[in-house]
Amino acid sequence: MDEPTIALVVQGGAGPISVESYKKNRPAIGEILQKTAPMLVEGVAALRVVEEAVRLFEEHPSFNAGIGSSLRYDGSIQLDATIMDGSTEQGAGVGAVSGIVHPVTLARYLLERTPHVLLAGRWATQFAQECGMELVPDEQLIVPERRKLWERKHAAKETPNDQVLSSGGTVGAVALDKEGKLAAATSTGGLVLSLAGRVGDSAILGAGTWADPHSAVSCTGVGESIMRILMAKVCADAVIGGAGPQEAAELAVRLQGEKTPGTSGAIIVDKSGVVGMAYNSDNMYRGYFTPEDGVVVPE
Ligand code: ASP
Repeated sequence: MDEPTIALVVQGGAGPISVESYKKNRPAIGEILQKTAPMLVEGVAALRVVEEAVRLFEEHPSFNAGIGSSLRYDGSIQLDATIMDGSTEQGAGVGAVSGIVHPVTLARYLLERTPHVLLAGRWATQFAQECGMELVPDEQLIVPERRKLWERKHAAKETPNDQVLSSGGTVGAVALDKEGKLAAATSTGGLVLSLAGRVGDSAILGAGTWADPHSAVSCTGVGESIMRILMAKVCADAVIGGAGPQEAAELAVRLQGEKTPGTSGAIIVDKSGVVGMAYNSDNMYRGYFTPEDGVVVPE
């Protein structure tokens, strides 16, 4: 009998990424894939694997999620995340939540322990505490580089409205497990200088994240633009309509560019383990694992 197909794709954000930044942070993508792909090989469920990949990104100070998140206009840190199980088509998200390193895990708790689909603000932090998650001060999530960027923007008198076309970075993962189940997860610190309380696509099922029995998708880019076209759902529906994963990712990104301002990117895996990755920004941190190709992180 044929070995069941498995596959994993991760993204660390699309946007104005310099050649130097890409070179510096590229190895981290490979490391995260090296740590999490074996879980799929061992038979761990896709939902758990995408959560773990995103947790590793959230712990990495170079990516805009968890530790290393962008600062809001008021200097605070507020995080968005979603997780979705393709086999049940159930998912959940948290929005503008403070005080935790791993919003993706909080989203999983919301999915597994409550009937709710979205929990936000200080009530989400309270729920995290009730779930036994460790609460941390913002200082623990702020890295010097992000603080300096915030200070520069404040000194230049930039406002939240100036940020509409910028994208701060997101992290995400999509996977197909040995049982043929798909899952997706996304997490972000949001856009630098955005208003406190702003919730982006990474908290919204269908916008930043989607998974169904046919494919799993995670998006990155300007959240307002992604939400306006429900980009992850557009991408997944293209697969249902007969498109291949790469074609579907390109279609979703193209639609975003045509209909809304700014840039974006998408990663996808389908139920056959075929992967797709597309973006219309300078670059996108990305990589994938399949048994045939091993771990692949584009130069
Ligand atoms: N999508 C994220 C947001 O708007 C940011 C990003 O992916 O760059 O919050």
